[in-house]
Amino acid sequence: MKEFRGKVAVITGSASGIGRATALRLAKRGSTIALADIDPDGLESVAKELTELGAKHSIHRVDVSSSSQMEAFAGEVEDIHGVVDILINNAGVAIAGPFANQRLEDLEWLVGINYWGVVYGCHYFLPLLKRPEQAHIVNVSSMFGFLGLPEQSGYCATKAAVRALSESLWTELRRDNIGVTSIHPGCIDTSIIQSSRMKNEDSRESAQELFSLRGAPPDAVAVAILLGIEKNKLRMRVRPESVLTEWLKRVFPVGVHRFIANRWEKDQAKRELKLETKGSTAT
Ligand code: NAD
Repeated sequence: MKEFRGKVAVITGSASGIGRATALRLAKRGSTIALADIDPDGLESVAKELTELGAKHSIHRVDVSSSSQMEAFAGEVEDIHGVVDILINNAGVAIAGPFANQRLEDLEWLVGINYWGVVYGCHYFLPLLKRPEQAHIVNVSSMFGFLGLPEQSGYCATKAAVRALSESLWTELRRDNIGVTSIHPGCIDTSIIQSSRMKNEDSRESAQELFSLRGAPPDAVAVAILLGIEKNKLRMRVRPESVLTEWLKRVFPVGVHRFIANRWEKDQAKRELKLETKGSTAT
């Protein structure tokens, strides 16, 4: 797809971060945006920015993990816009911590949003995407979709599933002139850590510090998303760490996990020693 002007783009998770940045970028290129999120205040604030840009838009309060809400959302978009040219399945959340300590309800929450949200988006919007001559689906995965990492089992699994789903759809939908791109950002400074379910508040703080210090602005992903659509790319790796992760997994498919396990075990031992020292100085 070479032209964004006059196109209708549906973006989930667009009240914040990468979704918001992509909405603004597409709006500046003349697209109409259907904003979707569970956060009503965030939606209103992005809608205000779109109004200031003079961009046509609609706002939809939707929980992507709900099949019935996603079906109703597709119906609303059809009534308002009649057609969809671009679908961006972006809404996502994270969990961190060892698998053994994780609650099943947290994993179900994660899978519901990160995986089922993408499946519902593709399922309910596909009939609308088939209407224009050409259309595009963007699914936001992660560099963690390339390999499994300790303390990230649930997140890695959902993002690998999104990558695999996108590859299958890319093949199946090519004859319908519907492109599919999976996005693998790397570290991006957004609100994701705040909404994550972390093992404790210390880990949230250190992760937030890392993301604020090292993370790229969300607009870097928006740029990659538009380029992925324009060039009909199967996948876009946004930041250098995403390219490196994918490369390491490809070149050292088993060795990379041995290396990570050794590092992780050493870090764990250091953490345990720190806790022990803290405990013994306290008594
Ligand atoms: P963010 O928290 O800023 O934005 C996520 C948005 O999704 C929020 O507006 C939130 O309200 C919305 N959302 C959450 N649950 C929802 C639900 N059930 N229904 C509808 N909307 C819901 O985070 P972000 O970093 O912009 O995340 C966007 C996507 O990018 C996610 O899929 C995330 O996994 C992915 N990603 C982020 C990074 C990063 O470093 N920030 C890296 C790789 C991938």
